[in-house]
Amino acid sequence: MTPKVRFAPSPTGRIHIGNARTALMNWLFAKHRGGTFVLRFDDTDQERSREEYAVSIEADLHWLGIHPDEVARQSQRFALYGAAADRLKALGRLYPCYETEDELDRRRKRQAARGLPPVYDRAALALTSDEIAALEGEGRKPHWRFKLDHRVVAWRDLVRGECHVDCASLSDPVLVRADGTYLYTLPSVVDDVDMAMTHIIRGEDHVTNTAVQIQLFELLGTVVPQFAHHNLLTNASGEGLSKRMGHLSLTSLREEGLEAMAAASLAVLVGSSEAVRPVASLEALAPLVDLSRLSRAPARFDEAELHHLNARLLHDAGFASVQARLQALGVAADEPFWLAVRGNLETLKDALIWWQVVHGPQAPVASDVAWLASAAALLPQEPWDQATWGAWTAAIKAETGHSGRNLFMPLRLALTGHEHGPELKALLPLIGRERAVRRLSGETA
Ligand code: GLU
Repeated sequence: MTPKVRFAPSPTGRIHIGNARTALMNWLFAKHRGGTFVLRFDDTDQERSREEYAVSIEADLHWLGIHPDEVARQSQRFALYGAAADRLKALGRLYPCYETEDELDRRRKRQAARGLPPVYDRAALALTSDEIAALEGEGRKPHWRFKLDHRVVAWRDLVRGECHVDCASLSDPVLVRADGTYLYTLPSVVDDVDMAMTHIIRGEDHVTNTAVQIQLFELLGTVVPQFAHHNLLTNASGEGLSKRMGHLSLTSLREEGLEAMAAASLAVLVGSSEAVRPVASLEALAPLVDLSRLSRAPARFDEAELHHLNARLLHDAGFASVQARLQALGVAADEPFWLAVRGNLETLKDALIWWQVVHGPQAPVASDVAWLASAAALLPQEPWDQATWGAWTAAIKAETGHSGRNLFMPLRLALTGHEHGPELKALLPLIGRERAVRRLSGETA
């Protein structure tokens, strides 16, 4: 069966690295099997949903390399949900309830006092038509509950294995609010049926919704999709990630200039059976996803690890994979420049520092003027290559007696303005003789 999956964020905030985990699990699962990926905005909450968030979520997914085959919005599909609600009403499975929050609260407290679980007692099912008329006469509007079948619902979760829930222990869930708006459950199942989703891959915070949804699938659809509930990410101190942790949003990671594949590698591999490591492409990441071997425990997302992966990815990155982005940063690099500097980058924009070092202008660094002048006098004529540095410094050593740090540090400082950096045998030919002479002579160059 070719999979069809969906990533279904509500556009009420920016998505974070934990949401990226869900999106990537879906994308990699589907694409590895020639399947289809739908981005579905769960935007039935029209108060809280914002177009700007929908736009940023799509941009974030594109950044990760996820290009949905289809984009759908629940706000354009209300007619389907209305039809499904009517169908459930006709089946006697969606019933009107008139209790206020206060009344329900008092009832739960009474249950608790008697040691009973806080399960809705279905009092509304016993209302006579006169009682209903009286309640409506008071101006009350009903909310609508799904009448669960009181039986055990079982499914084989692709992550968690055999799961079962006794629906007799659950309250009949509210599907439609008194103001006619839908809670998440009904639109989600209606769309999954209508779009013929084969797999529902999502965070384990949705395990508790699954039994109810399976009952709805059985009533509204023909097949029940397969479920996979992956473990969630926490931050480094073990707290669940939330939309309020803005610095972990994909948008801010992107704006920080991090590599999308560093974020993707960590989001997917942490808490999996694979070692966390930098993976250069989604194609290479896809075969590493094995839902059945994901950890059941929450996985810790560590920003320091993300930066570490980022640097490791850059250190191995081929020139072609970064050329366009370097151009966009204003670095008109060629391959020798890239190969010289990549090992010193933490983020790609650090390339600007070394671009400036190679092309100037650079202010002089105060040091031993006479010694630098004698070093400058020993510079060979061009053309230069990677052997030039060794030949030149050997000549300086022979002439001036400086060696080791006393030889290399003043040269590095005068030539680059930095105490550390890429190997000078690679940088020197890029800096070129004219600029090197001027820098060694204490000029801005
Ligand atoms: N909008 C829901 C969420 O973001 C979707 C859950 C699901 O995948 O069914 O949590």
